[in-house]
Amino acid sequence: GVRHVIVTGCSSGLGLRAAADLSRKPNHHVIMACRDFSKAERVAKEMNMPAGSYTVMHLDLGSLTSVREFVDSYRSKGLPVDALVCNAAVYLPTNPEPSFTADGFESSVGINHLGHFLLCHLMRDDIAKSKDPRIIIVGSVTGNTNTLAGQVPPLADLGDLRGLSNGLSDYSNVMIDGGEYDGAKAYKDSKVCNMLTMREMHKRWHDQYGITFGSLYPGCVAETNLFREKRAWFRWLFPRFQKYVTKGYVSQQEAGERLAQVVSSPEAKKSGVYWSWNGEAKSFGEGSAGGSGGALFENEPSDEVTDDAKAEKLWAESLRLTGLA
Ligand code: NDP
Repeated sequence: GVRHVIVTGCSSGLGLRAAADLSRKPNHHVIMACRDFSKAERVAKEMNMPAGSYTVMHLDLGSLTSVREFVDSYRSKGLPVDALVCNAAVYLPTNPEPSFTADGFESSVGINHLGHFLLCHLMRDDIAKSKDPRIIIVGSVTGNTNTLAGQVPPLADLGDLRGLSNGLSDYSNVMIDGGEYDGAKAYKDSKVCNMLTMREMHKRWHDQYGITFGSLYPGCVAETNLFREKRAWFRWLFPRFQKYVTKGYVSQQEAGERLAQVVSSPEAKKSGVYWSWNGEAKSFGEGSAGGSGGALFENEPSDEVTDDAKAEKLWAESLRLTGLA
């Protein structure tokens, strides 16, 4: 049968390249779950995604109502779902003041974590019906304090989760750890939540539902719109720094292929894994040669990401905030 893959936030960057790669694979159909319907339609055509290989649907992860409406309208289409890719994210490092979702949560954690948390819960039973069911959450090393990139301040730190317990909704509880607002840290915290959630879903649901859970760090995709808030000099320097100094650079195209590999290939069938690639990317773009392309391997997450007590607390608080408990 045809493998139906939902990708959130694939109107740009990594998600768009993964959606395009999946749409060209035999027997795949991509559901582009995007907040801007017409942008998604437009970029799908620009990427030459074959007509009939994808469906655009509206999903705004910054609204729990929108998440619920997406699931209802997905079911009413009568489509099966084999894989869910939680990819959408906002990164707001230069916001001096916090912004909030429709439900009043700080945006980075509200969109990147809570919206996806609800979506995974609502779609679990539908996904479990597949022959090769998978839920993939895009992670990042920036939330991983055991890596070089994860050591760049401010560091991710969920603390005792007091800000989250207090609703993540007013200025004194805008950060998960209850600290002062810092947009860059809020993003990193949200990525830690993504990885903790993946591991907790694996622990609670893998044996019972047979779903493969995975997270990945696709490499540094230095040219996506994620860095749109950054200054022009940064957007010029950053890709070059990643290409020639850290060698962590990966083109959007190749990062998309890596994500698509985790969604469908047999070598990424193992559950509970944080996938990465070693070796240099195939191409550094601009005509310069790259490395061999890198091989998939099971990465070691940081201590905070393997803290089971924290994962359980995050799970309980997230259930409460999303209205599931
Ligand atoms: P982009 O900014 O290019 O893409 C983010 C996508 O998320 C866009 O399609 C955006 O939609 C969508 N989005 C934002 N808010 C919402 C919302 N409320 N509801 C639905 N969709 C939304 O960034 P990237 O491609 O770089 O990021 C994709 C993923 O990769 C993220 O999870 C990020 O954390 C991760 N990542 C990125 C790395 C990098 O180096 N770039 C490294 C490691 C991980 P719109 O087009 O409307 O803005």
